[in-house]
Amino acid sequence: MSFKYIRPMPTPEEVAKELPLTKEEKALKAKRDREVANIITGADDRFLVIIGPCSADNEDAVLEYISRLAVVAEKVKDRVLIVPRIYTNKPRTTGEGYKGIASQPDPTKAPDMVEGLMAMRHMHIRSIKETGLTAADEMLYPGNWPYVEDLLSYVAIGARSVEDQYHRLTVSGFDVASGMKNPTSGDFSVMLNSVYAAQHPHHFAFSGYEVETTGNPLTHTILRGAVSKHGNSVQNYHYEDLIRLYEMYEKMDVVNPAAVVDANHSNSGKDYIQQVRIVEEVLHNRKHSDEIRSLVKGVMIESYLIAGNQKISDHQTYGQSITDACLGWTESERLVYEIADKV
Ligand code: PEP
Ligand code: MN
Repeated sequence: MSFKYIRPMPTPEEVAKELPLTKEEKALKAKRDREVANIITGADDRFLVIIGPCSADNEDAVLEYISRLAVVAEKVKDRVLIVPRIYTNKPRTTGEGYKGIASQPDPTKAPDMVEGLMAMRHMHIRSIKETGLTAADEMLYPGNWPYVEDLLSYVAIGARSVEDQYHRLTVSGFDVASGMKNPTSGDFSVMLNSVYAAQHPHHFAFSGYEVETTGNPLTHTILRGAVSKHGNSVQNYHYEDLIRLYEMYEKMDVVNPAAVVDANHSNSGKDYIQQVRIVEEVLHNRKHSDEIRSLVKGVMIESYLIAGNQKISDHQTYGQSITDACLGWTESERLVYEIADKV
């Protein structure tokens, strides 16, 4: 047998029982979910800013980051809704490298999937308790959903997962805003087909059960740029890309046509500082075109306490990314205020 079954995983009920939410925190999460949903449906014309580290690798550093962010969020709340990125599962291009706190609670040590589940839930709960901010996470492994479904206000499906049927069907059962990224090839129709699939009801096997879902009308698109066949980054945040997406949405049988522009990844060519210019361009194009204004509901920004990134080592810089390079705090704070001014 090629699988070695190490130990059974705890059930979602067992994990939630050890790390529960209070009644007040559940109400806060429901309110935040509604606020994000209202932006996606257009009922609220505030701008959504999903911002935080590429990977939430260190609970204290991430919480320090989100505590600072909460102060900014309060100041811009009339025009901008801030959702921190707490990304606990990292997709890897070749399967090698750090796979997130849910796999490796300590990036310098061996994987521990049970501790990882607890660490994932613990970090999201700390954010809610200490800052009042519910977060966004990537649902890299659909089976993780029952462990965090009471915690997240936004879910992303990554570029490497968006073509996968199981991910699409799983999103059809989520009750929070869910962004489907364009695949690394950049094909808009793959991304829009995934939105169609997730917005419709399905019947399948999930988490040890036969299940039915109702379809998730809050499923929308995230533009993260693409990689050409020659390995170059191909941007998709420009005016023409957004108009094209608007027009393709018009031909689809989906509700709430909406997009979030991810300013890093293949849009910045991983040159993280470009995120500032990219966000500025998106804001400019929203002013220029009513179609783009109605389509683009927000941006996603990779940002941490310290700019750039570093290799994993035993002498790591606190608050600096160990995956994609991020904007540092000072630039990020300035950018959020600029967004609030220009939006
Ligand atoms: C990310 O958001 O950090 C990420 C891995 O994104 P993508 O799926 O677009 O590569
Ligand atoms: Mn990233």
